[in-house]
Amino acid sequence: MNVQQKLEILADAAKYDASCASSGAKRSGNGKGVGHSDGMGICHSYTPDGRCVSLLKILLTNFCTYDCVFCVNRISSDIQRARFTPDEVVKLTLDFYKRNYIEGLFLSSGIIQSPDYTMEQLIQVAKTLRTEHHFGGYIHLKAIPGASERLIEQAGLFADRLSANIELPTQQDLVQLAPEKKTTVIESTMNKIAVRKDEADEDRRKLPSTPKFAAAGQSTQMVVGATPATDREILKTATHLYGQYKLRRIYYTGFSPYPDADARLPLKPAPLIREHRLYQSDWLMRFYGFTAAELTSEEEPSLSLTEDPKTTWAKSHPEFFPVDVNAAPREVLLRVPGIGYRNVERILSIRKYHRLLIDDLKKLHVRLKNALPYLIAIDHIPHQQPAADEAQPFTQLDLFAPLSALTGSL
Ligand code: SF4
Repeated sequence: MNVQQKLEILADAAKYDASCASSGAKRSGNGKGVGHSDGMGICHSYTPDGRCVSLLKILLTNFCTYDCVFCVNRISSDIQRARFTPDEVVKLTLDFYKRNYIEGLFLSSGIIQSPDYTMEQLIQVAKTLRTEHHFGGYIHLKAIPGASERLIEQAGLFADRLSANIELPTQQDLVQLAPEKKTTVIESTMNKIAVRKDEADEDRRKLPSTPKFAAAGQSTQMVVGATPATDREILKTATHLYGQYKLRRIYYTGFSPYPDADARLPLKPAPLIREHRLYQSDWLMRFYGFTAAELTSEEEPSLSLTEDPKTTWAKSHPEFFPVDVNAAPREVLLRVPGIGYRNVERILSIRKYHRLLIDDLKKLHVRLKNALPYLIAIDHIPHQQPAADEAQPFTQLDLFAPLSALTGSL
């Protein structure tokens, strides 16, 4: 089998791993080698469903000794197999990079022989690229759960990002569908990465020449909809992983059935909108101050498929609204539907010298259709006010002040 044929098989096999976005890396070329990634990370392009396509995204091999039921590469799967040598991956990466097709490499693999052996092969690719070819592009390596601490340490020296996949939301799910995998082993690998990164960051503060370790942090992927795990359970696991291991991102991948799949798997794909709602919730938890427990409940453990989670929360908390856009603190403004994170910052800065009108919010591209029922501005109070004893605006506005006295430019 030639390299082109292997590439077709192993690039196709890698498409199921979504944990490949590459933002956050900063690596300068030294003038001798090729490539660099800077500032906001390398340039990306994304497919319409959000996958990053600017990396060469391949598996070292789709042979795997594990039998994860939801995975096409499992040992019991009847698919065509292929395996690159580390040198073939190095050559492909450099060829593609020089032709400007890619800005980096995302390299994962099925488990061959053992977690340590597999990890060694992945490291060999990254090490050769960095040390022999002075490759300055982005490298994302899969951290194989169960690989030894020594190898995780090495991997982080050559890779910008590492990711150990959690695969499924709960240990019970793993028992059912990925019998060789254990949450404790996966989390132990995440912990090794987090601890080593903390140490390296600390050392670099004291001695800036200390080598970076996984500068773009770690991420993970969770398959959604392969088991009956609820959105509440998924968000609970996400909260735990972000808090415990300082993950940069969790990627949620809706399960999609494949031919002759195991009878334990659902026949229908997880709705794409469910994946989208999980990303929205994840964003709300990381940047808007929401907790997993607020976004779902024991009685309603699934996110709405028809409405974004912030609006759902707002509708069920009338006592919180309306919010005065000219006086409410940051954490309160963040809870208003239709007002995004950046606009909250803009509002806070503008209102230091100007009291905001609806027209001002329009200029900021606030989604007024969503926001108007929940906010008060100088020239706006919502039609449907909460009952008087429930409404708790944050300031008493002088609604009768002449508007002409309040105008100003943005
Ligand atoms: S270990 Fe990874 S590649 Fe192997 S069967 Fe499980 S999910 Fe697939």
